[in-house]
Amino acid sequence: MDQGEWDMTKTVELVVVGSIGLDTIETPWARHEEILGGSVSYACAGASFFAPVGMVGVVGEDVPAECEAVYEGFGIDLRGLQKAAGKTFRWSGVYEADMNHRRTLLTELNVFADFQPVLPEDYRQAPFLFLANIAPALQLHVLSQIRSPRFVAADTMDLWINTAREPLLEVIAAVDLLALNDAEARLLSGEHNLVKAAKKIMKMGPDYVVLKKGEHGAMLFSPRGVYVAPAYPLEVVHDPTGAGDTFAGGFMGSLAESGRVDAESIRRAMAYGSVVASFGVEAFSLDRLRRLDRTQIEARFKEFAALTHLPQA
Ligand code: AMP
Repeated sequence: MDQGEWDMTKTVELVVVGSIGLDTIETPWARHEEILGGSVSYACAGASFFAPVGMVGVVGEDVPAECEAVYEGFGIDLRGLQKAAGKTFRWSGVYEADMNHRRTLLTELNVFADFQPVLPEDYRQAPFLFLANIAPALQLHVLSQIRSPRFVAADTMDLWINTAREPLLEVIAAVDLLALNDAEARLLSGEHNLVKAAKKIMKMGPDYVVLKKGEHGAMLFSPRGVYVAPAYPLEVVHDPTGAGDTFAGGFMGSLAESGRVDAESIRRAMAYGSVVASFGVEAFSLDRLRRLDRTQIEARFKEFAALTHLPQA
């Protein structure tokens, strides 16, 4: 089914909470001001190709009129999206020529500072939950309203590791999977070696730890061992913002679509996550994802499978 064709009466299989932001982004080649971004935007867009997804988030009065239409274009369920008095979340970052390096220039929580999400009844039954990057207190608030999820994943960042460690540790103790980048894994665990860091984080609660490595892919640590998914090699990357969120959205969407959580469905989810994220970075904001369909995803998935295929020893 193409995006935008979801039957809106369909039960939400995956709930995602996170930020909705107006991002100002500078790369060595371009600068874009106040474009639609935020962790929940990228994650829901990435998931929408696989399963019915419901968004939990808040926008301010200044949100551009087309924002909702963009989400609706992906077929995202918006009953968990609130509009509040005040300004929409703002974030600004600048990339170096090596786009794995980025500096944050500004973070304004604005309406997220007082956000109290109330989940629609339908969302509370959802089997899959993704707590995308946002204040851990907010992640906990959403977690407490979901009844008996089959699989919960969370993302976070250095800001929350440094400023909200206690609630973050509560989140980590309650989830099945935690996604973070190398620097965040080191900061959280106090271990420099990443294998040791991942093992230490698994002891904090989650069975799965995903280390996001930007253009170098992602590593999954689980009790079964380590699994590596490369990033799909691209000649041109316009904007890596939200790649991790798009990856996680594709990953969780794929799991929700399969309805299973086993070694095979987790590996397939890693591949779909990589593939969808690779499309996302081909343009700023959600622009490339808006032109994407499942046929294109499947074609790149096949190339990805060939790329990662090893002959038998
Ligand atoms: P990523 O590239 O995966 O780090 O995600 C970037 C997205 O996260 C941007 O669209 C931002 O709007 C959003 N973002 C940046 N900082 C924060 C924060 N402190 N809390 C929530 N979302 C954030």
